[in-house]
Amino acid sequence: MYLSKLFIPLLKENPSEAKIKSHQLMLKTGMIKQSSTGIYSWLPIGFKIMKKIEKIVREEQNKIGAQELLMPTIQSAEIWKESGRYDDYGEEMLRIKDRQGKDLLYGPTNEELITEIFRSSVKSYKSLPQILYHIQWKFRDELRPRFGVMRCKEFFMKDAYSFDLDDDKAKESYNKMFFAYLNTFKRLGLTAIPMSADTGPIGGDLSHEFIILADTGESKIYADKRIFDIDINEHQNNQPSINNLRRKYDNFYAVTDDKFKKEDFTSKVNKNNQLTTKGIEVGHIFYFGDKYSKPLKCSVDLKDGKKVYVKMGSYGIGVSRLVGAVIEAKFNNNIMKWPESISPFDVVIIPSLQKKDDLNFEKSKKIYDFLKNSNIDVLFDDTEDHLSAKFKKFDLIGIPYQIIIGSKSGENQFEFKEINGKTDILTIEEIKNKLNKKINSN
Ligand code: ATP
Ligand code: MG
Repeated sequence: MYLSKLFIPLLKENPSEAKIKSHQLMLKTGMIKQSSTGIYSWLPIGFKIMKKIEKIVREEQNKIGAQELLMPTIQSAEIWKESGRYDDYGEEMLRIKDRQGKDLLYGPTNEELITEIFRSSVKSYKSLPQILYHIQWKFRDELRPRFGVMRCKEFFMKDAYSFDLDDDKAKESYNKMFFAYLNTFKRLGLTAIPMSADTGPIGGDLSHEFIILADTGESKIYADKRIFDIDINEHQNNQPSINNLRRKYDNFYAVTDDKFKKEDFTSKVNKNNQLTTKGIEVGHIFYFGDKYSKPLKCSVDLKDGKKVYVKMGSYGIGVSRLVGAVIEAKFNNNIMKWPESISPFDVVIIPSLQKKDDLNFEKSKKIYDFLKNSNIDVLFDDTEDHLSAKFKKFDLIGIPYQIIIGSKSGENQFEFKEINGKTDILTIEEIKNKLNKKINSN
């Protein structure tokens, strides 16, 4: 893609309405545009990054055998009346009427709808376990939408639902999801800490929030620092088993505000290991047994003919919030560096083109064509901005690698720079191999 053709409405000034860096950067680099309070359009660069995050989320769900489906954004109020949540959910729920006067709503979450799908399709214990998920827009009329995509009214979420026969099996599904989440966040270049959490309006007795540390986060957290040292790769060969490894996390105190008790914190955590800080919730998982299956009469027949209510859990990841969360975690000293797995382009070619420098243009174009033909997603800055202005711009856009065609580049050797990192002088073949290696490792 040529930069001159890219739809990227950059702002010259810092947007004054934005209080945190992710919101500022997303507006400034034209990733999003507010359409009304708490509702955004996703412009090409922002959308591309969100789609890459979605892809990683999807791959990690598929890896544990979860199956993707797609439920609508608009739901009938009937099933919410059956579960009792139509009244409980309050003003966060956007309620709508159709022309026949039928009560509808824009889904804030999908426990009811998925239970309805399940109860009408599955009758026998033989069909269990199941994990179903979708990635869909949600609407919550948040009291105070703020911080850009972090807390908005309309947001993109992956929500999964597990169905099992008994508590033990259901907790196994919960634990599978627990590690799928840790792997997902790791692939996004984030360290997310699972914290035991309150279950809130979803209900139930077992719940973890996945939090990444950031000063601008809305969640206050209290943790034993040693929880950061647990190696999630340990469970790969089932050594120790997934359930035992999950218990390792339980050994370390890590809670959010709602569950915090000062006495517990000071008695359970040695002073040197106490960490009190703030974070961003990027995922939340719940086990709630038959809280929804019972009122919605979602049962299956056992071998002996008895009926049991299925045991359910639900699991959410804030896909759109993650775009902002990655920025909060990675934006430093006015430089953004997207993790390679989700960067808007793999590499950018930055020629010095001030005086309509045909030679540099031709050289750049050759490199561009070569990399493009090697399946590398490359951006070519064909504008005539001053080189220093270009660098400033790319510090914000955050493409992880730059090929600079200027005084230091020779006939066949070019400056290859890692944003906020080191510079090498490499041939085009070496650049291609380096980039391909990085792309394939994501
Ligand atoms: P919060 O406490 O931040 O309101 P929640 O507990 O209400 O979150 P869940 O219902 O568990 O959130 O939703 C799953 C995930 O969806 C959250 O972990 C978060 O990443 C994301 N999310 C929730 N509400 C919003 C919102 N208003 N804007 C953007 N993302 C959101
Ligand atoms: Mg909420």
